[in-house]
Amino acid sequence: MKVCKFGGTSMASGATFDKVSDVIGGDRERRYIVVSAPGKRDVKDVKITDALYACYNEFTQTGSCDNAFEGIEQRFEEIAAHCAPDFDVKQMLDEVKNGIKKYATREYAASRGEYMSARILAAMLGVEFIDAEGLIIFDGEGNLLLEESIENIKDRLSGVDKAVFPGFYGSDIYGDIRTFTRGGSDITGAIIATAVDADVYENWTDVDGFLAADPRIVENPQTIDCLGYKELRELSYMGAEVLHPESVFPVRSAGIPINIKNTFNPEHSGTLIVADKNLPKKHRIITGVAGKKGFTIINIEKDMMNSEIGFGRKVLAVLEEEGISFEHVPSGIDTLSVVIRDEFLNGKMQKILGKLQDSVNGDVIDIHSGLALIATVGHNMASRHGTAATLFGALAENNINIRMIDQGSSELNIIVGVGAEDYEKAINAIYHAFCDEKAED
Ligand code: ASP
Repeated sequence: MKVCKFGGTSMASGATFDKVSDVIGGDRERRYIVVSAPGKRDVKDVKITDALYACYNEFTQTGSCDNAFEGIEQRFEEIAAHCAPDFDVKQMLDEVKNGIKKYATREYAASRGEYMSARILAAMLGVEFIDAEGLIIFDGEGNLLLEESIENIKDRLSGVDKAVFPGFYGSDIYGDIRTFTRGGSDITGAIIATAVDADVYENWTDVDGFLAADPRIVENPQTIDCLGYKELRELSYMGAEVLHPESVFPVRSAGIPINIKNTFNPEHSGTLIVADKNLPKKHRIITGVAGKKGFTIINIEKDMMNSEIGFGRKVLAVLEEEGISFEHVPSGIDTLSVVIRDEFLNGKMQKILGKLQDSVNGDVIDIHSGLALIATVGHNMASRHGTAATLFGALAENNINIRMIDQGSSELNIIVGVGAEDYEKAINAIYHAFCDEKAED
């Protein structure tokens, strides 16, 4: 049995609802469907969720939300006229508009895109609409209560063969509507998949799957056919975006694979995300390459550092006192470096350098900003020789200076730091070195 979640571009118009309906109708096992609010139909379009935030702002400023609500009405009227002509869309829109005026919380307003999208799809498919209010539960601070939500869903779905749910929201212990962070319908889908112990959680989007590199940097990168949860975490952390990061946790612990699929190219097998132990043995050396700009490295040098007990602790204590988290700590015999995101250092640099000097009395403490980090990720690296040679060779051939190297202890990745000006060139060099003719099957 499959739980399917359809993202905003899949729900953007009457025509895309048709595609969603075809996908659902194409497989009897697609029984529980979670939907996003209508997203953009083209680059200039507005996402319904953004329009609803605008409604809330208009209401708090003027006491009415008529202006901002007009565009929302048009979108849903178009969708309903196309997909479910007998559905009373006018009544639903009135209910929502009055609700925004009556309940007037930001999260309530934002949640209504998913609510309306799910109601229309349920009417179109002729299946039950099941609201997430009272089913997906948050505490008073807006933290998800996972176990309770799973129990609620299990109870509610016993004997229900097929249903459509709105993503992105639930309600708290006081009964108020609460939303996840943006893109949170992925989390709703994961919770429902876990509750019903689905065989697979299908996440339908507008790309063929997870790409081996950022398509804005590498031309036409390959789609990753199979990805481990740990690899997914590494690539997402480095900026590769397809799934909401919090959506992985429930299905991962339940051992349910996630299949990323394209509503606009449903024949493509997409990307399957599985437990690391289930990854195929014979697979490409690297799974993907991803990176980010905007890091600073602090280098500390001190003679005989290696024998000074507590040196590392003192350095990290300074960062802790300043409330700063660090990304990497590469070290040598008499050197220790700390890599930190630029945004954490804003206005604090001089203070930190002064404190470090007082605390560890280094011979040299210097900083280099403008660093980009690139992670080359692949579960097969551990068992192969020559991976580092290929990686560093590719960078050398392209005259790229490596400023930092860090290999994760799980041997799942090699991270290099390069100057931000070399970032795009380095990603291309690494991608082509591994993914062109060296791909193995
Ligand atoms: N509609 C929400 C957003 O735009 C949630 C989602 O689509 O997953 O962020």
